[in-house]
Formats: sequence, structure tokens, C-alpha cells
Amino acid sequence: MALFVVLLGPPGAGKGTQAKLLAQSFDLPHVSSGDLFRDHLKRETRLGLLAKDYMDRGGLVPDNVTVDMVIDRLSQPVCQKGAILDGFPRTLSQALALDEAMEERGEQVDLAPLIQVSDDEVVKRLTARRSCRSCGAVYHLLFNPPRVEGVCDVCGGPLYQRDDDNPETVRNRLYTYYKETSPLIGYYCAKGVLREVDGERSIDDIQVDLHAVIEAL
Ligand code: AMP
Repeated sequence: MALFVVLLGPPGAGKGTQAKLLAQSFDLPHVSSGDLFRDHLKRETRLGLLAKDYMDRGGLVPDNVTVDMVIDRLSQPVCQKGAILDGFPRTLSQALALDEAMEERGEQVDLAPLIQVSDDEVVKRLTARRSCRSCGAVYHLLFNPPRVEGVCDVCGGPLYQRDDDNPETVRNRLYTYYKETSPLIGYYCAKGVLREVDGERSIDDIQVDLHAVIEAL
């Protein structure tokens, strides 16, 4: 049976980190809309250039292009057994489009864990975040620094600060989260698939909780 998990939580909650670990453990693809946009941007595609404006301001890329991009990824054979979704859906209309596309294939969102983190913690985490340009590994300058400054432990690639991790854009991203994305909490709660997880603990502890909620399915 396929397993589709939608990770919810504010920017900086650790959705990407946790999604990568879950994807490894459950042998499922990690589908991150942010990573898909960053990949388009790197390749300078039309979609990438369109997304850049919204991303730089901390706003959302319009629903129609976002939905097409993610649904296209989910319909590839690699997602037949399921997927760990990170950063999508981010609006009610995206959630409805996702449900519709999945229903057509006889699938559904099985679980929507919500990783809870306070606003202060979000700002602290994101402004000190560094990402690897080559493999996407994520570091925190204080809590999870790389062994060599500016160099990825995993692949030796160069580390950089995402353009949208500066304090002003982080505040906009939080505002966007409350306005556009937080209604999804009620949406998935009503469907009986929401599970709350305390995100202000170690990466390992949060992963253990996520495993527990998935295994309890
Ligand atoms: P993330 O890596 O998930 O923090 O996403 C980075 C940026 O990409 C967001 O701040 C948005 O501008 C854009 N983005 C990612 N996912 C979505 C989505 N589902 N809907 C609209 N915009 C998105």
C-alpha cells in the first residue's frame, strides 16, 4: 500500500531535514516544492525565473504553476509507492488540488504531521541556516555547524545562505505561513490525519516521534 505523508509546520521547523530522514528510512522519494523551484532557478528555466521574485520576497509562487509542478512529480513512477511531501501543499487550494489528483489515482494523504516551533525559534534558526549548493544538506551555524567552515561535511560542496533566509524575508515568510498555510491544520485535522509533534527538540527525537506516528497507521 502506498504511503503519502505531508509534513506541515512553519518555515524553519525542520521539515526538510526530517523529510530527508523519513524518505531514507521508508525508501520513499522526498518531494520538496522549494527544492524543485531552486532546481529550476539553478537551471534558469522560465518557471525558475518566475518563482525567484516570489521566493525573494518570502511570498508564495502562484498556485497554478506550483500545483502543476508538484502533481507532475507525483505522477512519475518513482512516486508509485508514495512520497514524503515537504512544503506542499501550502494553501487550501493546493490541498484541494492535491486531493483531487490523488483521488483520481485511488490514493490519499495518509498522514499530515505538524512540526510545532515558536516564531522566535524560527527566526533564530533560519538566519543561521546554511545549505549546501551541491547536495542540499542543511547546517546551523551554532547547533549543527559543518566541520570545516563553508564546506559541506557530506559532499565537500560549498555552503551558502539562501537568499530568502535574511531577517526581513524570514518575517514575510512567517506572515505568509499564518495567512495562507496555517488553515491547512484545520483541513487535515478534519480529515483525521493531523498529528502534532514538538519541533523544539533534537533532530533525532523528532524523527523518533515521526516514525511512531507513521508506524501507528
Ligand atoms: P521552502 O524551501 O519550502 O522554504 O520554499 C522556499 C520558497 O519557495 C517559499 O518561500 C515560496 O516562495 C516557494 N514555495 C515553496 N513551496 C511552495 C508552495 N507549495 N506554494 C507556493 N510557493 C512555494
